Amino acid sequence: MSVFSNPAFDDHERVLFASDKATGLAAIIAIHSTALGPAAGGCRMWRYRDDAEALTDVLRLSRGMSYKNAMAGLQFGGGKAVIMQNDGCSDAMFERFGEFVDSLDGDYITAEDVGMTMDIMQRIARRTRHVTGLPRDGGKAGGDPSPKTALGIVSGIEAAVLSKLGRDSLEGIRVAVQGAGHVGYYVCRLLHARGAKILIADIDAARADRICREFDAEAVAIDEILFQPVDVVSPCALGAILNPQSIPKITASIIAGGANNQLETDADGQRLADAGILYAPDYVINGGGIINVACEYRGDVDDATVDELVLRIGPRLSGIFEEAAATGKPTNVIADAQARAIIDAA
Ligand code: NAD
Repeated sequence: MSVFSNPAFDDHERVLFASDKATGLAAIIAIHSTALGPAAGGCRMWRYRDDAEALTDVLRLSRGMSYKNAMAGLQFGGGKAVIMQNDGCSDAMFERFGEFVDSLDGDYITAEDVGMTMDIMQRIARRTRHVTGLPRDGGKAGGDPSPKTALGIVSGIEAAVLSKLGRDSLEGIRVAVQGAGHVGYYVCRLLHARGAKILIADIDAARADRICREFDAEAVAIDEILFQPVDVVSPCALGAILNPQSIPKITASIIAGGANNQLETDADGQRLADAGILYAPDYVINGGGIINVACEYRGDVDDATVDELVLRIGPRLSGIFEEAAATGKPTNVIADAQARAIIDAA
């Protein structure tokens, strides 16, 4: 398994391999950049095929966090952690992970990502204070970040629908949501409240069923959800789903969802633009959760202020869409250039 020659390696400042035989912990923490401040980004727990897949994931995700935090206007750099899921995940294992986070002296701040819960964050918090996504303290920022992630995503969908379809409401707009987990659930709740019609798919049928029941949605097969005849596709599961195989089959004119690393490669952004599909860059539209995390870490921000900051995501995306229309460049290229400029200026 190579690190420096891994295609996802982007001059990351630090990569920590955290291993503990006694508890079965096998984790990787990657700090991409601390130019803007301590590296903040969630921890993902997943059954990776092998170490190489986990390393590539953490390298890509941590770079994405640098860009996401920069574009969200936060004084935080980018980092991420992955834990290799196994059958014996115990309290002791999460506490040991907390010790590794603590050993970085606040250069990395963790939070929930796929496979993690607030409960697990509380276990990690027994060993470090550099952890967020903990239960709320009164009216202050905190808690599961996914409702704020969803709020930002839906404000981004509204911006995209206005830009691409000239519609200033989601009433009657058809949205295919891939993934009915934390983010997908709250996205569907907000979409339903705004009058959108939802199609949903999840490998966990019970999660999709719940959304069908609560939000009058229609369940779709997992390998067909991206290709439905809808206005918007909202990927809210895993990454690399936009690629040379999938893009030609997509009929929606907008892709706007919360999953990280939706483009398999940067070239897929150009493919989407060539196909006339408006793509909301993932790390811009899904920044609501990290805004919540950053406010929680600061400790003095109320929930209403978090919402105000999260709702800036829609206008931020509108700016990117306008620049894309004016220059003919793909939206991912514009967002990357803006993020890089912010980090380089720091
Ligand atoms: P989650 O684990 O709660 O939900 C993910 C869901 O996707 C699960 O229900 C899973 O069964 C489903 N899924 C996996 N593969 C699928 C497939 N091929 N087809 C359909 N469904 C599939 O995770 P989450 O917190 O909701 O995060 C979802 C995505 O959003 C991830 O990419 C994550 O990195 C990103 N994200 C999450 C947050 C947050 O606040 N939780 C913030 C920013 C970005």
